[in-house]
Amino acid sequence: MLTSKKVSNTTSFLGISNGKIELSLRPFAWLAEDLQIDFQQTRPHLETQILECCISNREGSKLDRGFFWNLEIGKRIEYLLILATLPHNSQFGVNLRCLNLECQQQMEIEFPLSSLIDLQHQSENKNPEIAFASENFSLRKPTGNDQLAWLHQVFSDESSAIMAMVQTLLPAEQKSAFQQGCSQHQDWIQTLNQVMEESDPLVNFSLQVNCPYCNTQNLQDFDLGAWALQQLYGAQQQLLVTIHRLAWHYHWSESEIFAIPPWRRSRYLDLINREENY
Ligand SMILES: [Zn+2]
Repeated sequence: MLTSKKVSNTTSFLGISNGKIELSLRPFAWLAEDLQIDFQQTRPHLETQILECCISNREGSKLDRGFFWNLEIGKRIEYLLILATLPHNSQFGVNLRCLNLECQQQMEIEFPLSSLIDLQHQSENKNPEIAFASENFSLRKPTGNDQLAWLHQVFSDESSAIMAMVQTLLPAEQKSAFQQGCSQHQDWIQTLNQVMEESDPLVNFSLQVNCPYCNTQNLQDFDLGAWALQQLYGAQQQLLVTIHRLAWHYHWSESEIFAIPPWRRSRYLDLINREENY
């Protein structure tokens, strides 16, 4: 659930609920700590660090890092998408190239972020289930912790990688029966992918669009988390430019600039721009 509320005159927060606790979320690239984030680090670490910076409890206190590692990947993507479209915009927008080789025209896709958040919320509390022969297997959804563990494992091929990942998501008593079931079903990876896609729509997201130039239907896999990180990287770079311009113009130090609330920094930038355009 998303509700907008003003906590103070200087920083606007969003109240979000993850079903268990109420959280506050502030825009990224507002505070000095946001410049400490290295976008070159591995993705699960980067995502956790950004979430940790911007999400606090309702009273505004920082949460334990373990809270973010324990979040399901879909939930982590949901929060990153909200951050990527703050503070003024709640639209998801992307440029895609048509897959028809004779066309390849660029298409601009834009829709409200709320439709993605609705997708995530509808899929919550539904665990992926897969049936082999007469047996049903119930998996849990992967979390940031799972991503981190898989990152440090080496696999000989794709199917052994997928099998090892699934094994971590199955209840202990179903692990060996699942492995046996797979040995009798050649297309188990395909079945599993389909089940995971349906149960975790933001993690396995694809965009279906009709090209307005050639009218071909395009179904394109799209990495929403990577898109969010790209926007947030852009916001961090913009913050660097802001500091550079204010420091250059007013001879303020970095800490003096960060003592000024974001809305006033932006006002000073407007004034500098106006002067320069005279
Ligand atoms: Zn086309």
